[in-house]
Amino acid sequence: MLKLSLLTAALLAVSAGAHAQELNVYSARHYQTDELLYKGFTDQTGIKINRIEAGDAALVERLKSEGAKSPADVILMVDAARLWRAEADGLFQPVSSKVLAERIPANLQGGEPGKDPQWFGFSTRARVIVYNKAAVNPADVDTYEKLADPKNKGKVCTRSGSHPYMLSLLGSLIERNGEAAAEKWAQGMVANMARNPQGGDTDQIKGVASGECGVALTNNYYYVRMARSDKPEDKAAIAKIGFLWPDQAGQGVHMNVAGGAVARHAPHKEAAVKFLEYLASDKAQNYFAAGNNEWPAVRSVKSDNAALEALGSFKAETVSIGAIGRNQVTAQKILDRTGYR
Ligand code: FE
Repeated sequence: MLKLSLLTAALLAVSAGAHAQELNVYSARHYQTDELLYKGFTDQTGIKINRIEAGDAALVERLKSEGAKSPADVILMVDAARLWRAEADGLFQPVSSKVLAERIPANLQGGEPGKDPQWFGFSTRARVIVYNKAAVNPADVDTYEKLADPKNKGKVCTRSGSHPYMLSLLGSLIERNGEAAAEKWAQGMVANMARNPQGGDTDQIKGVASGECGVALTNNYYYVRMARSDKPEDKAAIAKIGFLWPDQAGQGVHMNVAGGAVARHAPHKEAAVKFLEYLASDKAQNYFAAGNNEWPAVRSVKSDNAALEALGSFKAETVSIGAIGRNQVTAQKILDRTGYR
């Protein structure tokens, strides 16, 4: 926290002084490729970027406590559930940009329906299924629905239901199949658990490799990270695991985003919009996606990530991430009712 405070103090000092154009970015991302991402914007526009990097929760707390005096111009966060929560907390403002409206697919724009969007997905991540090749037939676990089927009793491992990744998946299933079906799914998941929910996505993958779990859900990049690893234990784990794209005969894989927004009280609003437009540019799209093995959000930009391409092509859902966000309140109620902790 001390480090954060010092950074902000320095940031504020800069804001008060120079007239040179600048932009204050609060980011919950921190990847090596981000350096190139930020440098590209400064090279192109002459606008200097000041960065504060922290976890999503810490950023939100900071923005709330700073209130109208916040120096934040742009906010970068991961997951539709978190972005929507920040929108609902009034931390963003609507953005009217022809470039963003045209470049970012409509279903990857968040905000109130019928109004200017308040947040944009700049990369997409897939929630995929991994299974133990020795213990599970992939045909028995190739949809989200099948994970909740009684035939998979005692086989399913999962992280906490109230983690944003699960809240967003449930929000998507509510949108896709209705609230009653989503609740039945959550019930089935609870009934099928091999152990109480614990750990993150990587822990689920390891549980599948060890055989403690037959099947689990993970964001694609955790799997890719392990598949690219040189560590002998990761190589041994990956050898035991099958990877599949869920719901290929149905509505497709649940897709989430890493995204950005203009802060409610942005002192440099124009530069903030310019930065979001830059993130949607051909050049920035692959930098943004590559840092975490995700896909570019802009359809005309091809992923240049060989490890991702090696997973093959797949059918992605087209559900609106704004709707997924709004469904969170219902999703949380379902989790509470079904005991999916
Ligand atoms: Fe993650």
